[in-house]
Amino acid sequence: MKKENFIVILGAAESGVGAAILAKEKGFNVFVSDKGVIKDQYKAMLEENAIDYEEGCHSEEKILQASEVIKSPGIRSDVPLVVKLMDMGTPVISDLEFAARYTDARLICITGSNGKTTTTLLTYHILKQAGLNVGLAGNVGKSFALQVARNNYDYYVLEISNFQLDHMYDFKADIAILLNITPDHLDRYEYKFQNYINSKFRILQNMKANDTFIYCSDDQVLIDEIGKRNISAETWAFTVTEDDAKQAYLKDETIYINLKDKENFTVSTNDLQLKGKHNFGNSMAAMLAARAVDIKNDKIRESLMSFENVEHRLEKIPFLVNGVEFINDSKATNVNSVWYALDSMKSKNVIWIAGGTDKGNDYSELFTLAEQKVKALVCLGVDNEKLKKSFNGKVETIVETHSMKECVETSYKLAQPGDVVLLSPACASFDLFKSYVDRGKQFKEEVRKL
Ligand code: ADP
Repeated sequence: MKKENFIVILGAAESGVGAAILAKEKGFNVFVSDKGVIKDQYKAMLEENAIDYEEGCHSEEKILQASEVIKSPGIRSDVPLVVKLMDMGTPVISDLEFAARYTDARLICITGSNGKTTTTLLTYHILKQAGLNVGLAGNVGKSFALQVARNNYDYYVLEISNFQLDHMYDFKADIAILLNITPDHLDRYEYKFQNYINSKFRILQNMKANDTFIYCSDDQVLIDEIGKRNISAETWAFTVTEDDAKQAYLKDETIYINLKDKENFTVSTNDLQLKGKHNFGNSMAAMLAARAVDIKNDKIRESLMSFENVEHRLEKIPFLVNGVEFINDSKATNVNSVWYALDSMKSKNVIWIAGGTDKGNDYSELFTLAEQKVKALVCLGVDNEKLKKSFNGKVETIVETHSMKECVETSYKLAQPGDVVLLSPACASFDLFKSYVDRGKQFKEEVRKL
């Protein structure tokens, strides 16, 4: 039997605990259930707010009584408990869907396969520098729900993943940015790319004519999908080509912002902190979002110049080891992000470190760049067979390693002065590391020890 006003939250980390606190504040009966161990900091928050919780199990009988369930994006939608809830007609929603009910703030929502965090942090930086009362949430920063409960922001910049979008229904973005769609997480979409595309396009649901949709017109998947849909929002495109029909474009190292009814402006890419073509695209997206909330051109330019690159994304280690450069791109967990990493390498002698948990990768996109730029491939994973097989005959030297220490030492041995060692794995990190952050930190530590 379902109980009225009874909200169950599955997963007690940042998003779940924040949602629990907001739900409690809004007068719901709240129960938090986490199958794993809840971190002390989150336990303390639950206890402080007198919220009922359990860890190490899911008490099914109690959970099935929920009038609504808020699910952490880390819990798969196809686990039996979630399937059962949905079959019973219990709404299973994301924390973002829940929290958005309780705020009138303007929501700038960023999704895509790659570049979300970078673009989200840059957009937030621009809005904040311009003096707006703005919060940062979603997959980065603090829980959106907790901020809705505790702060009174006028704007939020939200990084939103497909796993959150899958459980969002009435949520509406005021400004949506869709950066790109390339195959990723297919293991969670029945290996059907279209399912993943549909998930990403949920960012557009409920948008109206006075909302703004910003997308990359260099991405054929986006163009094809947009062609199939009726989009109500005003649509702005950005491109890293010279196409001056678009609202943002790139010509001779200059970004042009070209909006009807708004003052146009330009920025030299030499003035941007973020380098690489993909980052010019990310910057354009953030610039357009900033113009959509009427931030002055000068403020946008200043913020682009003062923004610092994000750790683990093409992060240069700030010293050479006997003339060898090291770059930490641990966050490159899919093939497309590695493509941009290799494309941006000036050196033709790259020692490329890749491998980890494969998510259904097709490496063929990388073959040309690998042939042109990769001198050696150092595999770093429990199972390296697929990588080795894919690049056999395309890269002269392929070696296998099974720990970061062994991997960095091997890469260094293979390198000559002037070469670049690039960690850009194309895979998730969970076979050997706790996370991509752990992988990136261990990489930097081992480089320091050389
Ligand atoms: P996300 O949050 O979507 O994972 P990040 O900003 O954390 O994106 O970047 C993840 C990886 O993708 C990094 O290796 C980064 O260099 C690369 N990257 C960043 N922006 C783009 C883009 N627009 N297209 C492709 N790759 C990108």
